[in-house]
Amino acid sequence: MYYNWTEKTNTEELKIVCNLIRNGELVIFPTETVYGIGANALDENAVGKIFIAKGRPSDNPLIVHLADRRKIEEIAQDITEVERKLIDAFMPGPFTIILKRKPIVPDIVTAGLDTVAVRIPENVIARGIITFSGVPIAAPSANVSGKPSGTNIKDIRKELEGKVSVIVDGGETQIGLESTVVKVIDEVPVILRPGKVTPEEIEKVTGIVKIDKNIFGRISQNDIVESPGMKYRHYAPETSCKLIYCQDDLDQVFYLKKFVKEYQGNVVVIGFKEHEEKLLLDSERFISVGKKDDLESFAKNIYSALRKADEIKPREILIEGVKKEGLGYAIMNRLIRTCEHNFFEKQ
Ligand code: AMP
Ligand code: MG
Repeated sequence: MYYNWTEKTNTEELKIVCNLIRNGELVIFPTETVYGIGANALDENAVGKIFIAKGRPSDNPLIVHLADRRKIEEIAQDITEVERKLIDAFMPGPFTIILKRKPIVPDIVTAGLDTVAVRIPENVIARGIITFSGVPIAAPSANVSGKPSGTNIKDIRKELEGKVSVIVDGGETQIGLESTVVKVIDEVPVILRPGKVTPEEIEKVTGIVKIDKNIFGRISQNDIVESPGMKYRHYAPETSCKLIYCQDDLDQVFYLKKFVKEYQGNVVVIGFKEHEEKLLLDSERFISVGKKDDLESFAKNIYSALRKADEIKPREILIEGVKKEGLGYAIMNRLIRTCEHNFFEKQ
């Protein structure tokens, strides 16, 4: 089924959706970050369907979505002072915290870890579905494992139609990148995945913040990491991708042109509006993610741009990078994975 709630939530349909969740079915729904593919987190069989629909490795745990802060203690325990500060500051919002789990959370959700990832979305549709279902909802991003996350229904239908009971359309997601994931280790918040909530913002709340060393690193299947998801290929279309970042704008355009030539023009460039005219490409070979200083626009558009570029099947997708600060941190973390470290950088 497909429900269109882009204008407003339909309460009759909301009841149907919540019944389906309670009955162990899968539902695709919008959040402020990306779309989620959700199931009742307390129902092992239902959660198992998520892994099948996505082709997700079973050792990669899921984030459990709750309607409000009072529900956290139903699935997590021994919450520390630092964790409490982070919860109060950033939840609801695009922020996920790893907490000690309660036994009620099935192993399939946590991949057998003694922790559980918790998020409270802000998006009205997501909150409505979680509240009226009356159960916590395990929901990874709505995409086939390894591919860019789904941020609009058109892309999601192409990839997951027929694999879930209902798709709820809430329009394009506002942020377009997955949540910031944080685990407090020895009283210090450690960012395991950067997102809209930045290291600077976290530091303001707790006085200290660390960034996991693997965020920009190369990780192989056998490495031991804080977050199992780090090990996997992610955010990647079929076509090979190259990331290009030069601090100086003239250099940036020079090298973009150089790489376009190297591939004899058989490329798609995902880049800034200001560079479009300078590259002299056919219009379908340049996909703009917005103006250079507009990182929010970049985040919002990057996954759909990657899918669009992939459809053209060029030899290479060239992607413009950004400075690694603020939201740029999250963008570059995703793009380095997209490009599998095929990264040209000039400071
Ligand atoms: P997604 O695939 O977008 O749902 O992202 C969820 C991310 O959170 C993945 O990278 C997971 O590996 C990570 N994650 C989920 N649960 C835990 C946990 N208990 N401990 C550490 N990382 C987790
Ligand atoms: Mg994902």
